[in-house]
Amino acid sequence: MNTTVTAKAEAALEYIAMGFPVIPLCWPAKDGSCGCGRGHQAKEIGKVPLTEHGLKDATQTQAGVNEYWGKWPDANVAIVIPEGYFVLDVDADRGGHESLDIIQEQHGKLPATMSVITGGQGIHLWFRTNGIRNATALAGFSGLDIRGNGGYVVAPPSIHRNGNEYAWVDRRPVAVVPEWLITLRTKKQQPSSNPYKVGQAELILEGQRNQTLASKAGTMRRAGFSSEAIFEALATLNRESCQPPLPDEEVRNIANSVGRYPPVNGSPNGNNTYIYKYIERNIPGLDTDRNKSVAEYQASCGGTC
Ligand SMILES: [Zn+2]
Repeated sequence: MNTTVTAKAEAALEYIAMGFPVIPLCWPAKDGSCGCGRGHQAKEIGKVPLTEHGLKDATQTQAGVNEYWGKWPDANVAIVIPEGYFVLDVDADRGGHESLDIIQEQHGKLPATMSVITGGQGIHLWFRTNGIRNATALAGFSGLDIRGNGGYVVAPPSIHRNGNEYAWVDRRPVAVVPEWLITLRTKKQQPSSNPYKVGQAELILEGQRNQTLASKAGTMRRAGFSSEAIFEALATLNRESCQPPLPDEEVRNIANSVGRYPPVNGSPNGNNTYIYKYIERNIPGLDTDRNKSVAEYQASCGGTC
């Protein structure tokens, strides 16, 4: 019998001890292709459950973990979200960090809570609540998805197909969700404000304008554009598509606030910029020297993260 316990199996044991059911997932090979041998493609790689009945085969026992990771020692580990919890999934590629900024500016800071930096440079924020089902969007805010009961999240130390490891940002106990986030969630869904879908012909309506312009600004900033260039592009988009257009001053504020982030390719910590911003804002008392790696951050928080 194979008695080697991989880091992933160890993590799975830890999660079941915390009361979270786990499931083994596909894992990426060294070259980023599907490592489980089932020919997964693109976004499936490292994310698809390996068990026959998917999430129904989630286990909460040591024997179950030993069986699954005995069979697939390299399998990524996912936590199946139990009743009473949900995860706010901040997707960096779809403007989730900008959306997170906006909802916190509008409603106040989210409480510090158990959180993970994802392999795609997003964040998973865990909250306690009642009866939240899995949903793909948060009231029209692009890049913010709800993973609730019936869903799952990839957990540390799983590996993303881009080679990054999912890692803990904060390991404190899960916070109770603020009421305003629940209210946002149950608002009527607005049409998608994904910046990649904004074309000349599409109107950006009141209630989506700030969010859409900020997402667009974030996308441009990550591609290396200056605040001034971003302002020019936003001003045009605002004039031609926003109904009614935002005041120029507000557009200027959006461009300037995004301009404070270093462009990804020019920053010593590159992709982690957004994570540091989140840490500064939401985890008080943590040393926020931007030259530190995420691992050093974790070491600096006195065991709570
Ligand atoms: Zn696979």
